[in-house]
Amino acid sequence: MDHLLADRQIEWRDRAREVARRVVLPNAWKYDRLQEYPWEIKQALAEAGLMKVWIPKEYGGAGGGVLELCVVVEELSRCCGGTGVLFAVNALGSFPILVAGTDEQKQKYLPAIASGEKLIAFGLSEKNAGSDAGGITCSAERDGDHYVLNGTKKWNTNGPVADLNTIFAITDPSSRSRRLSAFLLEKDMDGYEVGYIEDKMGIRCVPVGELDLKDCRAHESHLLGGKPGLGFKHAMMTLDRARPGVAAQAVGLAQGAVDFATLYATQRKQFGEPISSFQMVQKMLADMATKVAAARSLVYSAAKAVDAGARDMTKYAAMCKYYATDVAMEVTTDAVQVFGGNGYMRNYPIEKYMRDAKITQIYEGTNQIQRMVVARNLIKEATRLSHLEEFIPVPEHLR
Ligand SMILES: Cc1cc2nc3c(=O)[nH]c(=O)nc-3n(C[C@H](O)[C@H](O)[C@H](O)COP(=O)(O)OP(=O)(O)OC[C@H]3O[C@@H](n4cnc5c(N)ncnc54)[C@H](O)[C@@H]3O)c2cc1C
Repeated sequence: MDHLLADRQIEWRDRAREVARRVVLPNAWKYDRLQEYPWEIKQALAEAGLMKVWIPKEYGGAGGGVLELCVVVEELSRCCGGTGVLFAVNALGSFPILVAGTDEQKQKYLPAIASGEKLIAFGLSEKNAGSDAGGITCSAERDGDHYVLNGTKKWNTNGPVADLNTIFAITDPSSRSRRLSAFLLEKDMDGYEVGYIEDKMGIRCVPVGELDLKDCRAHESHLLGGKPGLGFKHAMMTLDRARPGVAAQAVGLAQGAVDFATLYATQRKQFGEPISSFQMVQKMLADMATKVAAARSLVYSAAKAVDAGARDMTKYAAMCKYYATDVAMEVTTDAVQVFGGNGYMRNYPIEKYMRDAKITQIYEGTNQIQRMVVARNLIKEATRLSHLEEFIPVPEHLR
């Protein structure tokens, strides 16, 4: 679908494709089994310059936007969904700095992220605050020119290996709208400890763990943007920019599953024929490929809306997130079906796609929450539909 992309994006996609085929594909199942961070893959991504794609040129980046990020995530995920998020989570962690950091914070952190020297994570969720992100309890109390952070962050993707972490905490418990602030924490700060690391269904090469903050002292220069009370807004602005990346991970996973299923269908014979000659298998393949194409179009168009700063970008980011990730779940499940019994086995490649796809429907806001976001925006926009009012008959008893 090159026609949807400019030359610049095609170049990024091809660069990512080369690394993905050379380094990611041959190692994906090894790291899935080991559940270990693939340092050699991360090194290859950094050497190819991929870690700098979304970072502005003045901070050592390549000056790409969310669309460039998406085409890279898609290609990596086509070979390994875990590698897709291992890469994209650095964008999630650094978007708060991009959207709200002071110039000093940008100068301090972004060049090291762009070069791949430092990894970053994003810590919003807690044990009792997932969908209800405003319900976090992690606190940051002012003490002179420092803040003292206490609490536990849950499911911090990349956290166990990250050098930096964007952490959300309560700075004003008495406020409803200005309760939260974000902090840029460094792993060697006193009171910053990696806790329990999860044993996961999919995306197993990237560690997801708890982060324990015990009287972690952060100088006020670590407060994102230098002003307290804007944490919730910064989190939502970040998620608008990051959700197309999750959707791109889903498109990549789904495309990879279509690739494997199509090849397998031409090779596997039953009743003396390749199974690709049976119409019901053809229908599955055709539907899978069509759904992926539709999801990709929506992801690219949402990414363009975000890059353009469109007023309704929140709605489009949510739409593409839930649509593409639902497609990934359907398509990867059907790909296992095309493989038949072999699809269920760990020594075949396809079950990993299905396991990796599931998380895309859950993190960065579940697909139920995304539908709520879309519906709320539609309802807000309903005032624009007043020209239709006269065509809806008013019931007799209300006249
Ligand atoms: C592998 C993994 C990695 C993650 N990485 C990160 C990370 O890096 N940083 C981070 O901050 N967080 C991360 N998360 C957390 C993730 O964003 C949350 O899991 C997600 O937002 C859902 O929260 P929850 O798990 O608490 O589910 P809950 O909020 O308990 O939801 C449970 C179910 O109820 C539904 N539900 C909840 N509220 C509503 C409602 N109002 N209307 C309709 N349905 C509703 C949900 O859709 C879901 O189906 C990660 C999670 C996982 C599993």
